[in-house]
Amino acid sequence: MFVGYCLQPMITTVHTHSKLSKHLDAVRAKGYRIGFVPTMGALHAGHIALMQQAMTMADYLVVSIFVNPTQFNNAQDLEKYPRDLEKDAAIIATKIASNQVVIYAPTVADVYGAQVTAQKYRFDGLEQVMEGANRPGHFDGVGTILAFLFTLIKPHIAVFGEKDFQQLQIVKKLVSNLLLPITIIGAPIHREENMLAMSSRNERLSSSGKAQAAFIYTSLTLAKAYFANHSSKKTTAYIERLYAAQDALSLEYFNIAHEDTLKPVTRKTTGGNYRAFIVVLVEGVRLIDNLKL
Ligand code: AMP
Repeated sequence: MFVGYCLQPMITTVHTHSKLSKHLDAVRAKGYRIGFVPTMGALHAGHIALMQQAMTMADYLVVSIFVNPTQFNNAQDLEKYPRDLEKDAAIIATKIASNQVVIYAPTVADVYGAQVTAQKYRFDGLEQVMEGANRPGHFDGVGTILAFLFTLIKPHIAVFGEKDFQQLQIVKKLVSNLLLPITIIGAPIHREENMLAMSSRNERLSSSGKAQAAFIYTSLTLAKAYFANHSSKKTTAYIERLYAAQDALSLEYFNIAHEDTLKPVTRKTTGGNYRAFIVVLVEGVRLIDNLKL
């Protein structure tokens, strides 16, 4: 059964795809351009920046809030993922302050029915490295939910954060493979004052964990400086040495890759577009970051 209600005077929240579909038919009938920001909730300033960016390029904003089970390869991570829809709706109402917004917050059953499984996707090898290699099935889950949401919402534009740079490249590939007329926009990484990349998972860190996690960005800037005069291999070894000396931080991977293909850099050439990618565990929380080199 559909339950739709206004948590704040201006923001409508719907919980079923059928209701969202009807709602958006009326929006499209007015000739509005639709912007879309998919999220898993526990909203922070990074998410809000994506919504503001979408609002500059569209007349009407759809925000999805859905913790997608098929993109989690770790049951504990899924279970511990922070969820607070009322708080998220209040944040959107305050920060976006427009009545041209709808939140789609479905149940798992509304998206998947009885079969909570992912489709298999290939993205020209983009899915095989880094997050794809370290989180088996993750990008099948991402592809499955985004194919569902894009087909349902049919946005003109969709905004994604560079924080998940590999995901951003994969989304561009998904849209091109499926011939969807959606412009994908990448938005810069929002950081805390100590330069830790904002993340919903930061909520699970203690204040000392947050302070220690600031080293992730520091290490990326050190990598950038070192890479200016050293090879990718030497830079990687340097960063691995730095983390070996950090008791509170466990390096899952550090990798320098070509921005377009995400293939590891074996030989630097002038004018190449390179980016450093990192995943670090702090207090059992998996934190991801990257920096253009
Ligand atoms: P999530 O809710 O973590 O699935 O993220 C939803 C969207 O917000 C994705 O496109 C993320 O890349 C983006 N995002 C998350 N954190 C940040 C951040 N610190 N800066 C910019 N975008 C972000």
